Amino acid sequence: MAAGRPYEGFFDINDVHEYLRIYESHVRSLSGGDEKQVHRTLLQYGRTKGIIHDLIGRNLSTDEGIHVDPESIVVTVGCQEALFLTLRTLRRDDRDALIAPMPCYVGATGAAALADMRVLPVAEHTAGIDLEDLERVVKEAKADGLRPRACYVVADFANPSGASLDIDTREALIRLAEKHDFLVLEDNPYGLFRALDSESTPTLKALDGDRRRVVYLGSYAKTGLPGARIGFAVADQRTASADGRTGLLADQLAKVKSMLTVNTSPIAQAVIGGKLLAHRHSLRSANARETELYQGNLRHALNELARHFPDDSRPEVTWNTPAGGFFVVLTVPFAVDDELLMHSARRHQVLWTPLHHFYGDGRPRRQLRLSLSYLSPDEITVGINRLADFIREQCDVQSLQKGIS
Ligand code: PMP
Repeated sequence: MAAGRPYEGFFDINDVHEYLRIYESHVRSLSGGDEKQVHRTLLQYGRTKGIIHDLIGRNLSTDEGIHVDPESIVVTVGCQEALFLTLRTLRRDDRDALIAPMPCYVGATGAAALADMRVLPVAEHTAGIDLEDLERVVKEAKADGLRPRACYVVADFANPSGASLDIDTREALIRLAEKHDFLVLEDNPYGLFRALDSESTPTLKALDGDRRRVVYLGSYAKTGLPGARIGFAVADQRTASADGRTGLLADQLAKVKSMLTVNTSPIAQAVIGGKLLAHRHSLRSANARETELYQGNLRHALNELARHFPDDSRPEVTWNTPAGGFFVVLTVPFAVDDELLMHSARRHQVLWTPLHHFYGDGRPRRQLRLSLSYLSPDEITVGINRLADFIREQCDVQSLQKGIS
């Protein structure tokens, strides 16, 4: 229950061939049957901002109610590259800083470290980012001569916490960004995996409208095919670059990308483009099977936890109840570190992730993350059985130690 990977049971190599062929015919018909153009589009170096930006634009308006000019979309090598390009572009000198709610996805703090950008931690509560703390952090940072350029947030089923922001918090976050002049970097790899009959809360980017405070970071790793490594950034802000010229933020990202990966593989883009065409630009229904599995795994894990640790039971173990996504966070009566993880792996044959990895300060917390996306319900039953044995054993060790001291 450590790997936050998508479920592999639905992967099919034939899909790749089919999607490639669909995209190939799409290019052929767009170019009026020009075979040279088909070859060039799929096999030659290509446009830095990518070739499936139109299809991504339609996907965003169909699934997310986000309506943007495709010119503001940069297709990237996974969302990870989109994160790095955005941070590297925003970082002009060492006064520029990224605000990040803690615990935070390590890919975001890791990309900030790679871009040599300071991270300002903000508290998270059960309903996501603590806006009062955010405002305090921004004011203090400015008083110290820093420039908080952006706030990173996963508004739907965050990694690792599973928390989601309600609509009022989303609105308030955008208003704060306007008031204090920073951007919001909305990373949304899990938003589609909510219950099939549930209403979605609008994304920050959909709420943003013409205010253009939100840079949206997308990933097709969970909703498309992870092996294609396709993600994107929507950066429709008009900003001044280092040379003083005003232009689209997307074009500044593309400048950095041209020195990093040149362009995203057109073959990989064609696979995702073909999938979007095959499903009329919507991945919501295309992922019905996956969503059902992830929702089922989540419910099953919560039931299994409740079976092992009913209300008022000792030891006291609690957990959150996300409405979707891949993760649940467990709070236990002892601090968990990597040494305990090794012990859990060796002795109990179960893996999970100590939460301190998502704080970046190395200080063990009494919390751990369970990933439920990669497993079958039977494996989850076995995993939580083993985890419960591990937790009871550690509580016994603790009470013994207390007895001795
Ligand atoms: N953001 C978050 C919150 C994630 O959990 C992940 C993947 N674990 C990513 C981004 C990375 O996405 P990609 O695979 O598209 O680079």
